[in-house]
Amino acid sequence: MAPRGHSFAVGGSSADRLLKCPANVVERLKLPPGVATDVAFAREAAEEGSRCHDLMEQWFVTGVLPADAPPDERAQVEKAYDMAMATFDRYMPGAEIFGVELEVTSFLPGCFGTTDLVMLSPGWIGLGDWKFGGWFVPALYGNAANPQLLFYLSALRVTYPGLFKDRDKFLLLISQPKCVDEAEHVVVGVAELDAFDRQIEAAFVEAMNPNPTYSKGDHCAFCAAKVICPKWTGPALDFSRLNGAPPRLPGAKKMKAYGEWLGTALTLLADINAWAKSVEPAAHEWIQSGQTIPGWKTEPKRATRKWALPEDEIRDAMIGKGYSLDAVAPRVLRSVAQLEKIVGGVPPAFIKSESSGINLVPDGKPPAVPLAEQADRLTAATAALKKET
Ligand code: SF4
Repeated sequence: MAPRGHSFAVGGSSADRLLKCPANVVERLKLPPGVATDVAFAREAAEEGSRCHDLMEQWFVTGVLPADAPPDERAQVEKAYDMAMATFDRYMPGAEIFGVELEVTSFLPGCFGTTDLVMLSPGWIGLGDWKFGGWFVPALYGNAANPQLLFYLSALRVTYPGLFKDRDKFLLLISQPKCVDEAEHVVVGVAELDAFDRQIEAAFVEAMNPNPTYSKGDHCAFCAAKVICPKWTGPALDFSRLNGAPPRLPGAKKMKAYGEWLGTALTLLADINAWAKSVEPAAHEWIQSGQTIPGWKTEPKRATRKWALPEDEIRDAMIGKGYSLDAVAPRVLRSVAQLEKIVGGVPPAFIKSESSGINLVPDGKPPAVPLAEQADRLTAATAALKKET
């Protein structure tokens, strides 16, 4: 199968990020050639997703799923297909396939993408996207449709304008079999599509400015530039802003200030952890692409021992040697969650809840504070504590 196309400035998967942080284009341009446009958090998951996309394409093209495909990947592909078709049938009965893995080109210079599936029926265009990872992606972002799907639809309109002559209702769906049992979907019209074109064009123009706007948030998760982005590396790495330790002898006022100091330090720590999570995958990718990092190398993880033969063969052989079934392969009760899933509910008297410990988590009350401001607060809190000492 041909590799799926991704454009650098903006493609389907980066459309949301461009809208939220136009500066990500220029930040990613600072990276050397060969660094992935988007971060693949889990290489194995990304590879599995890619194999499932290929299986789905083969199914559409040849009408059969390869018999030698791994059963769990076959099951995922079949489920994704069923979920998508059930939704297409609901809105677009009798819809026909227009294209699978279709390259589409945006009106933005140099920007393009690959749509997984395009369906047509009178008055309707349906656009389907397969997602085989475990990361749920909604069809709606607040009140607006998912920008990735809108980007594909917009590019489809540019590439195949004739399709849009007699069709003004657009069904956008994401089929993600690992996350949900129904396709996520939204119906939009021409007005929403036109509004998206205006927004993405404005963000693109902003991205080309000498000083584009930076905006830090959840959309940074898959931004390859997060490793070097000043919004993450600037204040987060400046530990001098911690400005010394809190006092040793807390009085009543100092106790409050100490709590605030810890709260700010925890928030700062959360940001540093979030940034750190992007560094390791980037380093892995870099070394695996044949590059070097002074002082660092990759090596295989410690091997874990596994059965080399099918489990029933091992079990029978061990029983043949005189060991009991209980000793070799004891039957164990399934977990509450597993059993509930199978039997649809168990008597409440069978279940007790026990916490496995205590976690430290945000209580949801502190407003999201920009990182630079967090560091300033920390400095101010420390200074206040020193004054009190
Ligand atoms: S990491 Fe976030 S703030 Fe920095 S460039 Fe990427 S999207 Fe923008």
